[in-house]
Amino acid sequence: MKFLSIAFLLMVSPVCFGLVVLQYHHVSDKTPSSTSVSPDLFEQHIRYLAENNFNVLTADEFADSLTFEKSLTDDKSVLITFDDGYDSVLTEAHEVLKKYNFPYIVFINPSKVGSKGYLSLKELQQLEGDGAAIANHTWNHPHLIREKPSETKADWRLRVTEEITTTQQFIEANFDATTKLFAYPYGEFNQALAQLLEQLGFIGFSQHSGAIGHFDNRQALPRFAFGGNYGLMSDFRIKVNSLPLPVAHVDVRDKSGNLLYEPLLTEGSSIPKVTIQIQNNGSHPKNLQLSCFASGVGSIAVKKIDSTTFETQSPEPLPVGRSRYNCTATSKLAGRFYWLSLPFYKKNDDGSWYPEY
Ligand SMILES: [Zn+2]
Repeated sequence: MKFLSIAFLLMVSPVCFGLVVLQYHHVSDKTPSSTSVSPDLFEQHIRYLAENNFNVLTADEFADSLTFEKSLTDDKSVLITFDDGYDSVLTEAHEVLKKYNFPYIVFINPSKVGSKGYLSLKELQQLEGDGAAIANHTWNHPHLIREKPSETKADWRLRVTEEITTTQQFIEANFDATTKLFAYPYGEFNQALAQLLEQLGFIGFSQHSGAIGHFDNRQALPRFAFGGNYGLMSDFRIKVNSLPLPVAHVDVRDKSGNLLYEPLLTEGSSIPKVTIQIQNNGSHPKNLQLSCFASGVGSIAVKKIDSTTFETQSPEPLPVGRSRYNCTATSKLAGRFYWLSLPFYKKNDDGSWYPEY
């Protein structure tokens, strides 16, 4: 998460680091379209990866790549992930992935394992035996950033810690998982959760989009989610070939100019102003032009301050719920675009939470 890691941004390496994480839920024609990719389209995605020599990483290889931060730009490395442990991972996706010998990750909620529509423990163990890794998505799939009305900060911390640690105990008791990977339910996180995951030794995934770069917080990594309108081949090709925008510094401010450190927008901060400074090392096109979009708004103006500094801000308040600013630019590599995504969450005007979805 870029604006969680401002201190870290000062230490960025000039090497362009690139990893793309794909996120699926259902692979089916019969489940809600917003979280489903059809079996036919899924097969096209996987065939594209095989035919275009993508390196599909195991969980361990992915963790090593993050640790050593080697440049993967030319390797075209991807991680394939499924959230929630739905049964279509076995009935539809598994055979396709097995055919190409591609490893993948299934993020599970132990409270759902074996219930209707979800994989059973035995089925998950079968997938693991065929090359899948089973990973942590909390016990109950709560909105982790929402404190309960009666809860103190300490109560909240204890509850979310238990959601994570009991799930990890379940995984370690039933699977051979070695790499500690965690996906935030609904992609929702804050600084306290990212710090907790770091203390517990996890790599964390959110669901804002973009390729992973040096500047990304290891406990809030982006993933490209496919389902509904996202994932047609024209869209998939661009995303899977994307590169991290080579950022030196990003800051996000409210209308009074105060820095914002959390994706959850506070009162008076629903039109965040973002300043993006690009690395000045010659690795990117000289006249780099950024294009930015805001959820629910569309294209938003980008002001070029100097050759490496850009400012962007939505002309109107972001909608209630989860939204993003996405910025892209042409890279020096044909057909490959730089990508940066900043997630934002906004409560209802009366301070209550937006509907659960
Ligand atoms: Zn989920």
